[in-house]
Formats: sequence, C-alpha cells, structure tokens
Amino acid sequence: METMKIGIVGCAGRMGRMLLGAVQAAEGCDIAGGTEAPGAAAVGRDIGELIGLGPLGLAVGDDPLELFAAADAVIDFTVPAATVAHAELAAQARVAHVIGTTGLDAAQEKAVERAALHTAVVKAANMSLGVNLLLALVERVAATLGDDYDIEILEMHHRHKVDAPSGTALALGGAAAAGRGVALDAVAQKVRDGVTGARRRGDIGFATLRGGDVAGEHAVIFAGEGERIELAHKASSREVFARGAVRAALWTRGREPGLYSMRDVLGLA
Ligand code: NAD
Repeated sequence: METMKIGIVGCAGRMGRMLLGAVQAAEGCDIAGGTEAPGAAAVGRDIGELIGLGPLGLAVGDDPLELFAAADAVIDFTVPAATVAHAELAAQARVAHVIGTTGLDAAQEKAVERAALHTAVVKAANMSLGVNLLLALVERVAATLGDDYDIEILEMHHRHKVDAPSGTALALGGAAAAGRGVALDAVAQKVRDGVTGARRRGDIGFATLRGGDVAGEHAVIFAGEGERIELAHKASSREVFARGAVRAALWTRGREPGLYSMRDVLGLA
C-alpha cells in the first residue's frame, strides 16, 4: 500500500509537535508538511528541528492551501476559527480532515458538518482509546441507573487550556444524556455560583479545575442515596491523543465522505 502523506496544521503547538512525532513514528505514513498561523515564530523553521530531530528538509509554512494540495489527510489541533477555514479547504481538495480542536460554537460545528458532505472528517474532543471506551460505558451506566442517581462530571487540565468545560467533559455529558434519552443542553449545569437553590433532578453538572501541566483528567460521578459510582480516566501524556489522531488519519484512507467519530475509528460505535 502506498505511504499516506499526513499534514499537520498548527504544527508548533503543544499537540502539533506531538503529532509530528507520532506521524514520524507510525508505519504507513509520512509527514506531508506543517503550517502555523501567519506571523508565528515557527514559520520558516525546519519541521524536524522543531521536534528535536535532525533537519527533515521541510519548512513550517503559513499557507494551508499548499499543505492541503500536498496531503492525503490533515490533522488539526488548532483554534476553532482556523479549523473552520481548514474544513472548507479539506472539502474543496477532498482531503481527509482529522479534527481535535475543541471549543467550536454551534455555527462552527455546522460548518464542519457541511465540509463532511464532501470529504471524510473525523472529529473527536478526545482521541484516546480510554476516553472513547469511557464514553460507551457512561452511556450504558446512565441508561441503567435513571435519574435517581445525580450525574456530575469533573475535569482537570493544565493552566494553558482556554475553553471550559473541556470538550471531553461535554462529550461525556452528551453520552450520559444520550443514555437517559434527553438533550444535554436541556439539563447541563455548567457553572454554579452563589445561592443556586437545590440541585434539580435530572441535571448533569460540571466542575472545572485548571492548573500545572495536567494532560487531562475526567471523572463521571453517579451519586445516589447511599452509594456512588465513579468512572474516571487520567491521561498522563498527550501522546495518547496524538497516536489516536494518526490512527484516525490512517483509517480515513478510501473512506466515503461523512462525519465520523473516534468511536467509528476504534470500532466502538
Ligand atoms: P496550542 O495553543 O499549544 O496549539 C495550537 C496551535 O495552533 C498554536 O501553535 C497556534 O499558533 C496554531 N494556530 C492558530 N491558528 C492557526 C492557523 N490559522 N493556522 C495554523 N496554525 C494555527 O494548543 P494545544 O494544547 O495544542 O491544543 C490545541 C487544541 O486541541 C485545543 O482546542 C485543545 O482543546 C485540543 N485538544 C484536543 C485533544 C483531543 O484528543 N481531541 C487533545 C488535546 C488538545
């Protein structure tokens, strides 16, 4: 089989660098190139040197059009506005798009759905195998227990994270809501401050912690009368997300246009 060429947008970011290393380490793919935001310090630097390898003869670019023309799939862990622009390019070029960016608003989510009419898009708030298993478990436990059990979702991430609750926490909330047959928006309680009144039956609560270099920790708590069930996942390295994203990119080979999740990639759907 031909080697797949994988491009990385935002390649000098925390995840971008991990992704370059993961593509380099994986079988069956090569780095097609990488971009950064126009004006970013890394533009023009050699991609290999960016991740502590020798020079690879590929410079960090700032023109995504060039990268999409050179790639079979592009992995995108950037910011929502950039991800939407990249999705349009992916649709035009019929290049697979693997999206890890979180914090997209409803209009931005719609733009990604439109792009997925023309190319294969894998989008997941968390690309790790463990969290995707957790999503399936949470849905099942929520369906089994009913709303006698209060659901609370706790997450902690490093001090640089800009969106809250995390995309993964929201996805876990979505899985719990799906298990109960309700829409998350109708029951989500994302912030509590001051005199909030008693907890409303059926709500799904969120609590957000930020600090240090925590790669990502999530717990889903089902609190009933006299007992509590807790399902938790702890990522100790961002490498798990990068490896999952590369696996998703390889999985898109020959795939029909559509919006896929990591559960599709892992065969858990
Ligand atoms: P980061 O700030 O370190 O990296 C983002 C990079 O994108 C930066 O280098 C920035 O310059 C670059 N960028 C911004 N605009 C760009 C543009 N127009 N073109 C090219 N590059 C551009 O952030 P991070 O910690 O790497 O996280 C990035 C995103 O990935 C966040 O939304 C985060 O929540 C998400 N994330 C998802 C997963 C997952 O498994 N899905 C895991 C970790 C992080």
